[in-house]
Amino acid sequence: MTNDDARRVPLCHSRFVILSSFVIRASSFLVFFLSIFPVASRAGDNLGILGANPRWNVLEKYQGTITPDKFNRLIQDVYCTHGFAPDLIEINEKTARVLMNRESQRFFILRLAENETARKPVPRLWRPAKSLPPARPEKPLSGVKIALDPGHLGGRWAKMEERWFQVGNSQPVQEGDLTLRVAQLLAPRLRELGAKVSFIRNSNEPITAKRPDDFQELARKILIKNGVPQPRADVLDPNDPAKEQTIRWQSEILFYRYSEIRRRAALVNFKLHPDLVLCLHFNAEGWGDPNNPTLTDINHLHLLVNGSYLAEELEFDDERFEMIRRLLSRAYDEELPLADTIAVAMARATGLPPYQYPTTNSTTKVGSSDYVYARNLLATRLYRCPVVYCEPYVMNSKDVFARIQAGDYEGMRKVNGVERKSIFREYADSVIEGLVEYYSKARGGSRSPNAMSQMAPLTH
Ligand SMILES: [Zn+2]
Repeated sequence: MTNDDARRVPLCHSRFVILSSFVIRASSFLVFFLSIFPVASRAGDNLGILGANPRWNVLEKYQGTITPDKFNRLIQDVYCTHGFAPDLIEINEKTARVLMNRESQRFFILRLAENETARKPVPRLWRPAKSLPPARPEKPLSGVKIALDPGHLGGRWAKMEERWFQVGNSQPVQEGDLTLRVAQLLAPRLRELGAKVSFIRNSNEPITAKRPDDFQELARKILIKNGVPQPRADVLDPNDPAKEQTIRWQSEILFYRYSEIRRRAALVNFKLHPDLVLCLHFNAEGWGDPNNPTLTDINHLHLLVNGSYLAEELEFDDERFEMIRRLLSRAYDEELPLADTIAVAMARATGLPPYQYPTTNSTTKVGSSDYVYARNLLATRLYRCPVVYCEPYVMNSKDVFARIQAGDYEGMRKVNGVERKSIFREYADSVIEGLVEYYSKARGGSRSPNAMSQMAPLTH
């Protein structure tokens, strides 16, 4: 469940009441609400929430590394599929001109390569699979640095994150706990296959040292700038439709979303330097009252890679800079086929249909599997390496709910009338199967029977 999606629950009684289109509109509204009037740190700065001043000069190293055709295609088909103001990016035959700041009318000029042969190699810290030496068949991931990012926090933070629901007296469902369990199953399996594995989070505690109280002043400023002149301090009733206009609600989201994910990005970019980040999530449909949640028959799967920036997101100097940096790093060339391969393996294991977003307002379907979308999420944008963001299983579907209640177990068991693996092992096994398939092929080795036996499910 992405952070934007979670917001559709509390917003369901607010101004957007058209249920069919409510998911995206509600989430777009929130992004708009939080970021359209950012609190600038300096005059002329135009930054998103907790955004850092862009360092455009670091893009100098990408001079001459991309052709006009490739640049154009990535802009049109992946990153800017919803259009943008004409002065932001201008692509010519030999250069691309990107607006750094509208007020000061400064531009970054990128020199484009004449053709593929003339272009310089792309500088990067992560290694594409095809640049790695061939691996022994039983160690198809040897040397691959994989960072696991179990989504959210779980534990005592789950209610605050609105990643919590409980049916009667059953075990509460907390997404942050479920994703951590999947990561902990994945790690030893990936290591057996040769990968160097790190955890971005390996407990129910945040990475950021900040807490909601640290953001009270910023929350107040954001609310005032967004037309709430005298914001209330606290949420009085959790079902209050106006709760997002309180200082508490805003300071909490600044903590668990913006501050936390930015800290995770710093860990990835300055310490871990992985070749791939796997963001692990479970999806949900709107469940209404978390103490009396709606269970549904709907269940589905999708994966996300970075892209599909909204025109208003591209207006922020930092987001535009981060988009261009990501484009030039060519992470997409690696993460798309990876996501496609993992998606096919997950679809095969779970039997889930591809999720269809109710509108195309914030996502763009990419790749060939039918399961992968481009979307501009904080994590997929900020982690400076290929990122595959997994969104299998609707937690409040009747079937997934029963499987979560059954917990983790070895082997096969009959749950909800069907004999199968634990949902956590099915998740982990299928991700591994996709990774093995991708890396074995991209590194030039073929998948031998040996590699297949290494992929034996966790249940054996
Ligand atoms: Zn999630």
